[in-house]
Amino acid sequence: MSCTDARYSFELYPPRTERAAATLPATIDRLAAVHPDFISVTYGAGGSSRTASLDVLRYIIEHTDVSAMAHLTCVGSSHEEAHRLIREFLDAGIRRFLAVRGDPPADLPAGEDGIGDIRTTAELVQLIHRVQAERAPYGELSVPGLPAQAVLEHREHVQIAVAAFPNGHPSSHSISQDIDALLAKQAAGANLGITQLFFHAEDYLHFAQRAAEAGVTFPILPGIMPVTSPARLKRMLELSGEDLPSDLAIELEVEPTDEGRREIGIDWAARLGRRLLDGGAPGLHLYTFNQHEAVLSMLDRIGVLPEGGAEHTHTPKKSATEKEP
Ligand code: FAD
Repeated sequence: MSCTDARYSFELYPPRTERAAATLPATIDRLAAVHPDFISVTYGAGGSSRTASLDVLRYIIEHTDVSAMAHLTCVGSSHEEAHRLIREFLDAGIRRFLAVRGDPPADLPAGEDGIGDIRTTAELVQLIHRVQAERAPYGELSVPGLPAQAVLEHREHVQIAVAAFPNGHPSSHSISQDIDALLAKQAAGANLGITQLFFHAEDYLHFAQRAAEAGVTFPILPGIMPVTSPARLKRMLELSGEDLPSDLAIELEVEPTDEGRREIGIDWAARLGRRLLDGGAPGLHLYTFNQHEAVLSMLDRIGVLPEGGAEHTHTPKKSATEKEP
């Protein structure tokens, strides 16, 4: 794929402070202005940020023309709670999901795993399709227990992305196990993969090739981000469990200025993004950390932004009465 045709998408998380909540709409507007394929919004394990996620998703739906993707996890939920949660997101107008299992709390009593009724991501993917199919035939009228065939027929009405791990999930014993998990998610009806953060293009390219050879047919978007400070690098390594990219870590450590570190992070990510696209990646998914500047500068440097590049400003969504016929 040539760089100018490349697609991109962004990930946000619900704001954790009032100050962050006040600045997020401007960030979303700036990201929306470059017409990404979608903006995804993370979902806190244990349902802690259900309302916060929905608030951000609703802002995207109501104020931009960009498609919103909801991360969804059902860890620790009963089957009934998971059903209700999915229904709530569908009722809010969400048709794109990133289904992830989630992580149970670390401090559980002996003998409890905290996973809940939905044991695997593949089951969650199936449940999303089922809930959508049950509500789809008669609009708001729910049809519990729709036959499996009817569920299969409704699969095209939602997009369900799933997580992929180029360097293995922390609990997995081998890359083959991760690819088996992807195949199980595909069989359940997933139609897009998004990877965990990684730092070397070869990690993704080898993994994508192995997954395709094993029979994974959906596109797998590489998830990357510009790492613009040692603190952010540390945080990303904690979240992702990836190994430290020592060249980047050293460059960031020795650079004395914030501006210099920002430049190093953006340049590093732009080179990674370009190598991924040249190697055949179907697009780039960018972890934004709720800031637009670095990801837009990085995409601009790769040469994939529309005319106006990172300076693009948001045109507010037209109201129903203003819309062209
Ligand atoms: P799975 O992929 O189902 O399982 C993880 C691993 O377990 C597999 O890779 C495999 O090694 C093994 N495994 C599972 N099933 C099988 C099987 N059938 N056969 C063989 N091996 C199997 N967490 C949140 O709480 N909220 C979020 O919003 C969120 N967003 C994320 C977004 C992305 C892009 C990524 C990569 C992760 C995200 N996570 C999020 C983290 C996620 O919840 C954790 O990675 C969690 O530990 C596992 O969820 P999963 O869906 O990756 O699980």
